[in-house]
Formats: sequence, C-alpha cells, structure tokens
Amino acid sequence: MPSYIKENINLAKYTTLGVGGRARYFAEIVTEEELTMAIEWANTEGLKIVVLGGGSNVLIGDGGVDALVMRMGIQGIVSEARGGVEEYVHACAGELWDDVVATATEERALWGIENLSGIPGRVGATPVQNINAYGASVSDVVVSVDAYHSITGEKRTLEVSECHFGYRDSFFKTDEGSKYIIVRVTLKLTKEQQANTVYRSASQSIQRFIESEGITMPTPSDVRRAVLSARKNIGMLPGMLQSAGSFFKNVILEKEEFVRLRAIIEENYAEKGEQLSPWHWTLLSGQEKVSTAFLMECTQYNKTDFKGKTFNNAVGISPLHTLSLINCGGASSDDISAFASEIILEIKNTFGVTIESEVCNIP
Ligand SMILES: Cc1cc2nc3c(=O)[nH]c(=O)nc-3n(C[C@H](O)[C@H](O)[C@H](O)COP(=O)(O)OP(=O)(O)OC[C@H]3O[C@@H](n4cnc5c(N)ncnc54)[C@H](O)[C@@H]3O)c2cc1C
Repeated sequence: MPSYIKENINLAKYTTLGVGGRARYFAEIVTEEELTMAIEWANTEGLKIVVLGGGSNVLIGDGGVDALVMRMGIQGIVSEARGGVEEYVHACAGELWDDVVATATEERALWGIENLSGIPGRVGATPVQNINAYGASVSDVVVSVDAYHSITGEKRTLEVSECHFGYRDSFFKTDEGSKYIIVRVTLKLTKEQQANTVYRSASQSIQRFIESEGITMPTPSDVRRAVLSARKNIGMLPGMLQSAGSFFKNVILEKEEFVRLRAIIEENYAEKGEQLSPWHWTLLSGQEKVSTAFLMECTQYNKTDFKGKTFNNAVGISPLHTLSLINCGGASSDDISAFASEIILEIKNTFGVTIESEVCNIP
C-alpha cells in the first residue's frame, strides 16, 4: 500500500456539515503520480474509489465508507493569454475555488467568474456540481476538464460539449461520468467589461453595493466585493455555519404544473402569493424555475418560524437562509437526512411538488 494511504480515518472533519463515519482507506492526493498509483492500488485490492474535495456539498453516512477516499489536493493555477481580450485559466483540482476567483478578479482583472465569488470547496468539484450563483454558472466559462478514469487509469480531456452541463448537474454525476477523477479545469475568461447582473437579486445587491461605494465603472474586483458582501448577509461564506450551503435545489416545473402551484399559493397563502412573482424564473425551455426557499417560507420550515428550534436537538435551519440546513452541534448524518426527508414530505403534502437535495450522498 502506498505510504500516503491511511486506514480508518474519520471523515466528519473533512466536511462542512461536520458529520460522517470513517473511511476504510484515505489519501490526500497532491500529485498526479500519487493519483495514478492510488487508482492502481485500489483496483488491485478490489476497492471502490470515492473522491472528496472540500467536503462542502456532501453528506457522508454515519456508517462510514468502505472504499479508498481520495481528497484532491493537487495545486496550481496558470493563466494563459490568448491574444486579444481572452485569457485561459488552468486550475488544478485541489485549489480552493475562491482562490481562483480572487486571482482572476483581483490580480488579472478578468471577467467571467466574479459572481461565483465566495463559494466554498475546491476546483475539482465545480464542474461536477456545475456551481452557480447570482445568474452565473461555471459551465458558462468551462473550456475543458482533464480527468483520470478510476478503473482504466486513463487520462483524458473532456471538452465542454462532453460535460453535459445542466442546473446543478453534469456528465460527472452519471454512472459513467462519476468514474472520472478531475485533476484540472480550464476556464475561458475575458478582460472585456461584462458585469453579469441579469439575475434579479444579483443586479439588486451588486448595484446597491456599487452605488453605496460611489463606483461608476465597476471592475471584476468590485463585483467580487459586492458578491462577498451579499453572501455574508445570508451566511453563505465558508466557515460561517456548519452547513452544505443550500441543501435543496430549486424546482423546475412544466408550465401546467406551475399554473397549478401558483393557484395553490394564491388560494392558501394570499400574502405570500403576492410575493411569488420575484421567486420564479421562466427558462429558455419554457419551464418555470421556482425558489424552493419561497415554498419552504410558506411552511413552518423557514428561517423565521424555525429560528432557535432544532430537529432531534441537533439540526436546524440557518437563521440567515431558509435553504440552508445547519448542524447545530452533535448532529449525525441520519439526523440531517431525517430532517431533510421531513421537509421534502411537508412540501409534497402542501404543494404536490417534490423537491430534491442538492447535496451528494456518500456512499
Ligand atoms: C456556505 C456554503 C455556500 C455554498 N454556496 C454555493 C453556491 O452559491 N452555489 C453552488 O453551486 N454551491 C454552493 N455551495 C456548495 C458547494 O460549495 C459546491 O458544490 C462546491 O463546488 C463543492 O466543492 P467541494 O470541493 O467541497 O466538493 P465536495 O463536497 O467534496 O464534493 C462534491 C461532489 O463532487 C465530487 N468531487 C469532488 N472533487 C472531485 C474531483 N476532483 N473529481 C471528481 N469528482 C469530484 C465528490 O465526489 C462529490 O460527489 C455552498 C456550500 C456551502 C457550505
């Protein structure tokens, strides 16, 4: 067994929710050579491979993981000028995502990922989850992803068209795609001014901040500061609370389903119904994306009514953001799952809509 592989390691401390059992084997991977050796060893031993980044979007079971868990720590950020206004940024999987954003916006004055400031976790997970915030998604700027196949050990480059990006979704979440271990992501950014404020809450909070600072021509770094300030107000910066960020995805509905949902809201939650309009977005497909936080706000499971309360004395709702379930201390993974299931059932019973968890369950 390679010397950097350890046995029986507690995984809770490697997750932002602070829960989860032990890994049978665990390795911090800092080079591609270590990665290929570890893949070979796991396959020889007949072990499953599980990849971890910053652990900010996973719920690891209390029973632990009977596998080799590899925490990706390969470092490196390289910028490549492409002539004209474009610049490619090649970032290795183990870099903190927000360090990449800081480098791009503050040091290189590049546009493209400023709205994705302050998202916890490492680069390798960003295409998996297709991270998204304030109207921007990493898929808007991904050029390609370099990854190793965890069974054949083969390295390949997947072009953006092969990543099949969707809302919090990608090829890397499919049965075949989840066999790939990402080592590097290439992003295409630009020096051309293009502040993205299409998303309502982005334009409002970014605009408010920019105005309050008396800025007339915002730089990528100004927008980054605006986004960080907005995220701080909702408890969504790394380390503020023991959470996985938004625990649930927003809901995508067909037109008829949306009409039915709106009727339920207007009939039973008149006061809320008046407020529904800012909380749904018509997609290019014609479907409607509805804020799950809004639906939860109509139930007892919201940051105001639930404030100070807990489920099983251990799991709560962030006092700053309804979608964020928090470990109040001493929660188990089962506690969090049970609370999430209770909320899913409540939304189903109230609106006939099934909400889904955004968090990856391991195993
Ligand atoms: C406070 C807070 C705020 C957040 N805000 C946002 C937000 O605004 N927008 C958003 O989209 N997300 C948000 N998140 C969720 C999370 O930060 C992102 O999903 C992030 O990209 C997860 O990165 P990670 O390195 O922690 O991944 P992990 O949680 O470690 O892993 C997530 C998944 O990716 C897989 N994975 C990780 N690394 C690799 C790799 N190298 N190769 C292959 N698979 C890999 C894992 O197996 C797992 O399935 C937030 C989380 C928190 C705690």
